[in-house]
Amino acid sequence: MRIDRDYLLETLAGLVRINSVNPSLAPGAPGEKEIAGFIAASLQSLGLKTEIFEPEPGRSSVVGTLKGSGGGRNLMLNAHCDTVDVAGMAEPFSAAIRGGKLYGRGSFDMKGSLAASMAAAKALVDDGVRLRGDVLVAAVADEEYGSLGTRDLIGRVKVDGAIVTEPTALNTCLAHKGYLWIAVEVAGRAAHGSKFELGIDANMKMGAFLHELAKLEKDLRARPPHPLVGPPSLHAAMLSGGSGLSTYAARATVEIERRTIPGETEAQAVDEIQQIVDKLAAADRDFRAAVKAFFVRDPFEAAADASIVKAVDRAASSVLGHAPAHVGDTPWMDAALLQAAGVDTVVFGPAGAGAHADVGWVDLESVEKLAEILAEAAADYCG
Ligand SMILES: [Zn+2]
Repeated sequence: MRIDRDYLLETLAGLVRINSVNPSLAPGAPGEKEIAGFIAASLQSLGLKTEIFEPEPGRSSVVGTLKGSGGGRNLMLNAHCDTVDVAGMAEPFSAAIRGGKLYGRGSFDMKGSLAASMAAAKALVDDGVRLRGDVLVAAVADEEYGSLGTRDLIGRVKVDGAIVTEPTALNTCLAHKGYLWIAVEVAGRAAHGSKFELGIDANMKMGAFLHELAKLEKDLRARPPHPLVGPPSLHAAMLSGGSGLSTYAARATVEIERRTIPGETEAQAVDEIQQIVDKLAAADRDFRAAVKAFFVRDPFEAAADASIVKAVDRAASSVLGHAPAHVGDTPWMDAALLQAAGVDTVVFGPAGAGAHADVGWVDLESVEKLAEILAEAAADYCG
């Protein structure tokens, strides 16, 4: 299927030039409203039925639907249109092209993917073939923070399959890690700094906890790794404790991030930490701590023989001239939400570098190839 290269490049440059920094990450940032207008106008000009949804005021997702004739499977091409902050970047909105790379915040993560999804829809329209199923281009809000956009769309649109187009260097990504955030609050007893007989030092008790946590951290990384995403891990991300120099610390808190692999559950990960607390409490009657998971994102795994995976593999093989590698990636993506909602999901996207870094770029040849692969995969899956 022929990709309109001019449309693809103009659309990508247009997307990168619009500031769509996520306001939950950078207070005061504009969010998705302006970029949603740009995307909607472009999809509308292609003849797609286009809707803007606001999961929260000012946070916009766009869905363009290329209607099928009926009776086929519906497919979502999913790309987030928000980005992380631009602080420290010399040219966040330049969309400058040098040596086959387009630069700017979000070019790689993931406006190149969004432009390719839009160009794939255009190729299907230009080709004139009427598919049986619907093809939806979903430009979603807030993936970089709370996934407001994809969570909202899951309740609104009904699709059988989804291709999340996060960057994969044109490999087929079948798994990513999940994570959970766990707070452990160690209780002490406040007392005047001179009154050792009255005080219980929560910070010292926290030291004992961290000593055991470090052993768990080593143990996690020594476990049999998942073949595509490696072993689980954790880190003691944030620590606080104490209220003044001449006071025994009444409490100390650590916030832990635990990265999970497919097959692990939240309950199991929390229980491993609870076991440390129980062991310390059994050995020391002054040790008291509460464990609480306060945020969870599940890991993602797709079967290599799932029909969406096979459609993408076939399309990629025909466009690239070789079968794409099956890979995994460590960061969490919206793919897990879609898969958990019963949508047959795979991740496939372009090449580039600098996802959240000071310099970011996307490889233009890979964006064009991606557009072609998405169009072919949609024709296969929805046809
Ligand atoms: Zn992303």
